[in-house]
Amino acid sequence: MSNRTIPLDERLYAYLTGHSLRETPVLRRLRDLTRHHPHAGMQIAPEQGQLIALLVELIGARRAIEIGTFTGYSSLWIASALPADGRLICCDLSEEWTAVGVPFWEEAGVRGRIDLRIAPALETLDGLLRDGAASSFDLVFVDADKTGYRDYYERCLQLLRPGGLALFDNTLWGGSVADPADQAEGTRAIRAFNEHLHRDERVGLSLVPIGDGLTLARKR
Ligand code: CA
Repeated sequence: MSNRTIPLDERLYAYLTGHSLRETPVLRRLRDLTRHHPHAGMQIAPEQGQLIALLVELIGARRAIEIGTFTGYSSLWIASALPADGRLICCDLSEEWTAVGVPFWEEAGVRGRIDLRIAPALETLDGLLRDGAASSFDLVFVDADKTGYRDYYERCLQLLRPGGLALFDNTLWGGSVADPADQAEGTRAIRAFNEHLHRDERVGLSLVPIGDGLTLARKR
């Protein structure tokens, strides 16, 4: 026993998922389908989806935004956790990738909760701010280009209500953030982002070592 986060080997990971995951059949089929996609690594882990869904329920979220929808697996977790009249704005650049998820959203009965916007996310977010949507969202999930995280974060802080939650995926970036020899653009961007949030007193913070690292930032 130790007072640090336990490392997960394959056996323990199988135990964790086997004893906690409640993935519905439609979620499971969408995840399996995306596993064969050339960019399959962009899909979140199922235990992450379940945590995000629980957070949606915990804060009673009704209005949410997702930045980086890919094939719609995380969107399906979030939309399913929202109330029937909840809304999730999904931002992505790819009509082709997001089209994979749409039939699954329909099958799960949550298509009506999802407002898919195919455009650069910053344009969508700035449009929302122009339309007077500041401080009106409960939750934002960000899983997109890592060099954009800082800009997305600033928009999130404007769009979220006090007590609203911003979630950022891949903040451990395969462990490379802790490797000083790794100076790749994405690594440096995540590193700078993590350092910025660590110092930023506008939010309550936790970097959770689930999936590839999930940062929770609660707007104060
Ligand atoms: Ca990701």
